[in-house]
Amino acid sequence: MSDLRPQVLVAGGGPGGSTAAALLARQGLDVLLVEKAVMPRYHIGESLLPSCLKIFDLLGLRERIEGYGFQRKDGGYFDWAGEVWEVDFSTPAKPLYGFQVIRSEFDQLLLDHAREQGVTVWEGTEVRDLAFEDRRPVRARCETSDGERRDVSFDTLVDASGRAGLMSRRYLKNRRYHDAFMNVAVWGYWRDAKRLSTGLTGAIATCSIPLGWTWAIPLHDDTLSVGVVLHRDRLKQLRKHQSLEAIYESAVASSRVLTPLLEGAELTGPLRSETDYSYAAETFAEPGYFLVGDAACFLDPLLSTGVHLAMFSALTAAAGIASVLRGEVEEEEATTFYDSTFRRAYLRMLVVVSSFYQTHVEKDVHFKRAQRLSARDYQGEELIDAFINIVSGVEDLYDVEELRADRLVDVMTRLYDEHYSFVRRRQDWEGLPLDEIQRGMARLRVVDDVQEEFSLTPRTATNGLYVVEDPLGLARAGHPVTVATSSP
Ligand SMILES: Cc1cc2nc3c(=O)[nH]c(=O)nc-3n(C[C@H](O)[C@H](O)[C@H](O)COP(=O)(O)OP(=O)(O)OC[C@H]3O[C@@H](n4cnc5c(N)ncnc54)[C@H](O)[C@@H]3O)c2cc1C
Repeated sequence: MSDLRPQVLVAGGGPGGSTAAALLARQGLDVLLVEKAVMPRYHIGESLLPSCLKIFDLLGLRERIEGYGFQRKDGGYFDWAGEVWEVDFSTPAKPLYGFQVIRSEFDQLLLDHAREQGVTVWEGTEVRDLAFEDRRPVRARCETSDGERRDVSFDTLVDASGRAGLMSRRYLKNRRYHDAFMNVAVWGYWRDAKRLSTGLTGAIATCSIPLGWTWAIPLHDDTLSVGVVLHRDRLKQLRKHQSLEAIYESAVASSRVLTPLLEGAELTGPLRSETDYSYAAETFAEPGYFLVGDAACFLDPLLSTGVHLAMFSALTAAAGIASVLRGEVEEEEATTFYDSTFRRAYLRMLVVVSSFYQTHVEKDVHFKRAQRLSARDYQGEELIDAFINIVSGVEDLYDVEELRADRLVDVMTRLYDEHYSFVRRRQDWEGLPLDEIQRGMARLRVVDDVQEEFSLTPRTATNGLYVVEDPLGLARAGHPVTVATSSP
């Protein structure tokens, strides 16, 4: 039995936990990370958004990731309810891209990096129980896979235990599932599949099918990850008389994009399946703890936002913890800042995913109805707050004062509809009247803004605070600060 006293205990070594731990160790903090599995371990969540580039820079990991050989991802290809378009992450001013990663390798790389930054890492060890003083977690009982008990006392807990949700499911009991997006994903890996022949390198293909939608993600080991997402009720109904394999096969065969890609290809290994219901904890942080990534909230994987939210929340939590320990802000300020910043980032994506379903899934009425946000899915005020940020650049198009929560998804849906019809007609822009081009460009900026995180600049400060990079911490908007320039 050992008794350790780190300043920060991180439970879970996925992208959220490893990012938070490494960033804190780089600030000189004493950090212990406890991971239940022994790496490398399998995980789903392979398609990364360009926002990860900034975090790789802050971690000092960009060069290693670039050199590793992961598939570079220049954008997305959509074939949705009969319409086809591409999303190119790059603009001439901003060369942006993401990666398609094999998560066992990516997660191991992040965890090894955390260790190299000075984090003490216990793999094959589970955080079993927490002890509290008032509401504050102060001690953990951990257990290795061969039964050795290890006790840990700490100042702050970063719960990055993913969907297992150590704090929110075991202790706070505050995880709330949304009515919308009650989906199940079934997926497998194909050898000898063809690659999409679009102009964008390594694009993810996201395609609607009568049953729901599919993903196709090219990986650097030359396999193609192919998933089918359908509503849980539909799956339950089909399972009465069909095997999972038969449902998957006929779903894949119904896609006009997948069929030619998979001609002559072979499924390697058994199918995997997971529910991907969306949820959020009622509280993301209080003095003494921060819930990071999936431990706090999860969003339907339609737009590949999971790792982005995990790494962004890890950055925000690490900045708050470092600032509190340096005495720059009060603990309660940091946890309130974290809760609002992360929640707004999550809610904004929730609106976008919802409007995306609404815009493009028209054929299967049941699927569409099942994916609508209901009033129980969010608090109106919070959602408006998150949404204002998106539409604030286009007051000329939408009267922001008039916005009500129940209209947000409709407004966003219209915005996306107009945006994509404008993008699809890109080759005709030269022939369009100037004011139409200007309106189209304004919408492009709005859709770009969806990618921009809150609270990383004085302009997007939350409760008057924002994250600064050097040293990593929180600053008050309006106060002079040194901001390191490491934008991608
Ligand atoms: C079907 C599906 C498809 C997806 N596709 C994408 C995608 O394309 N792109 C994307 O960005 N995201 C995707 N996601 C989401 C993505 O998988 C997650 O959002 C992401 O992995 C969250 O990272 P995390 O660090 O919060 O949690 P995780 O990566 O889940 O890491 C949590 C870690 O905590 C450990 N742990 C759990 N309990 C304990 C404990 N008590 N003690 C110690 N360790 C513990 C676990 O072993 C695990 O390693 C998808 C999800 C699903 C379900």
